[in-house]
Amino acid sequence: MERVIVVGGGLAGVRAVESLRGKGYRGALTLLSAERHRPYDRPPLSKAVLAGETDATTVDAAWDELGVDLRLGERATSLRLDGRGGAVRTEAGELPFDGLVIATGAVPITLPGDGPQRVLRTIDDSLALRERLTEGTRLAIVGAGWIGAEVATAAAKKGCAVTVVEAADAPLANALGAEIGSLTAPWYAEAGVALRTGVKVASVEAGGLALAGGGWLAADEVLVGVGVRPELAWLDGSGLDLERGVVTDASFRVSVDGTVRPDVVAVGDCAAWWSRRYGRRMLVEHWDAALNAPDVAAATLLGQDAEYDTAPYFWSEQFGRMVQYAGHHAEAERLVRRGDPGEAQWTLCWLTGDRLDAVLTVDRPKDLVQAKRVIAAGTPVDAALLADPGVPLRQAVKR
Ligand code: FAD
Repeated sequence: MERVIVVGGGLAGVRAVESLRGKGYRGALTLLSAERHRPYDRPPLSKAVLAGETDATTVDAAWDELGVDLRLGERATSLRLDGRGGAVRTEAGELPFDGLVIATGAVPITLPGDGPQRVLRTIDDSLALRERLTEGTRLAIVGAGWIGAEVATAAAKKGCAVTVVEAADAPLANALGAEIGSLTAPWYAEAGVALRTGVKVASVEAGGLALAGGGWLAADEVLVGVGVRPELAWLDGSGLDLERGVVTDASFRVSVDGTVRPDVVAVGDCAAWWSRRYGRRMLVEHWDAALNAPDVAAATLLGQDAEYDTAPYFWSEQFGRMVQYAGHHAEAERLVRRGDPGEAQWTLCWLTGDRLDAVLTVDRPKDLVQAKRVIAAGTPVDAALLADPGVPLRQAVKR
C-alpha cells in the first residue's frame, strides 16, 4: 500500500495513524477530520471540562514524527470503492487511496421541536454548556444515561436547578436494565437533582420541554443525552454493508454484499464488529475500544493476522462515585451481589454457570481490575466467595 487515508480525527483515528506507523507503514498517510481541533479525548468533556478543571484534552501524539497529512476541518462527503482501493470525496476534492480506515465515530441523537437544545459530543459543546452552568440556572437534562448523570453531577455542583427527565423507569435502564439502574436513583436526590422517570419528552420548545401527555417543564437550558448513532451518512451509496454501524469481521475488515474487503477497515464508535468471544456483533461506544482496537485494525490493513477479542470496558464518574463496567452480561444467567448497593461501595457480578460474564463496580476499583483478568481468562469462579466483599475477587477463582 502506498496511500492510506484515515477518516475521522477522534481517538480511534489517531490511534490508527500511530499504529500504522508503529507497524512500519511508510507510505503516504492522510488523516481527515471534520473538526477544526486537533484530536482530543471526549471523556473529560462531561467531567473535568464541565467542572472547570481543564480546557485541554488534546491527545498527545508526536505529529511531526508521524509524517501525516493532517487535514482538520475537512469532512469526507462520500466514498467510492473500486475493485481495489477507491477514493474519498471531501469538501475540497477527491483523495484516492489503496488503504482506508473508517473512524468517523458517532453523533448525538436530538429531539423534535424548535426550541434550543444542547448536546454534548465536542469540546465546543462542552465549553458552551459550561458557560451556562451558573447558580440558579434551570437545566433540564433529557436522558438519565451516562452523559445525563455526569452533566447533572457537574451542574448541581455549580448550583444549577437540575431536573433529569427519563422515559424509562430508572436511570441507566438502557445500559444496565431498570432493576440495576434504579440502584443509582438515590444518588440524584442526594445531589439535589430532581429525577423524573417514566416521563417522555414530546419536543423541545422555547422555554422548556413539552412532555408527552401534555405536561410542561420550564427550563433555561436543555441538554439532550439520549444516545448517539454511528456517523455513517457519508457512506451512503458506497455499497458497504451497514447495519447499526459499519459491519466488520473480527479483524475490522468491512464488507460489500457480504464479501470482505481487505483494503478497508472500520473501528471505534462507528464500527459494528464481530466478536468471536460473544458470537455476536458488538457496537460499543467506549473509550477503551477507541484506544485499543485501532492497533488490530492497522495490523489487518497491513495484511497481518489480528483479531479483536477484548471484553468491553468503560467507566463513568457520577455523583462523586467511580462506576466501572467490564464484560457483557446480556445473556448471563444470574446476578451475585458483592456488598450492599445501599452502602458506599459495591460490586455486581453476572454469571453463567461458574463463568464470570461481567461486573459493575461502584468505588471498588480493585474488583474491576481483578474481574477484567478473570473475564478475559474465562476461569471458573466460586459464587459464594464472589459474594463476600471481604474476599479479594481474584481469590474467588476455582483452583
Ligand atoms: P469520535 O470520538 O466520535 O471521533 C470521530 C471523529 O470523526 C470526530 O472528530 C468527527 O468530527 C469526525 N468525523 C465524523 N464524520 C466525519 C467525516 N465524514 N469526515 C471527517 N471526519 C468526520 N467512554 C468511556 O468509556 N468512558 C467515559 O467516561 C466516556 N465519557 C464520555 C463523555 C462524553 C461527553 C462523550 C461524548 C463520550 C464519552 N465516552 C466515554 C465515549 C468515548 O469518548 C468514545 O467511545 C470515543 O470518543 C470514540 O472515539 P472515536 O474516535 O471512535 O469517535
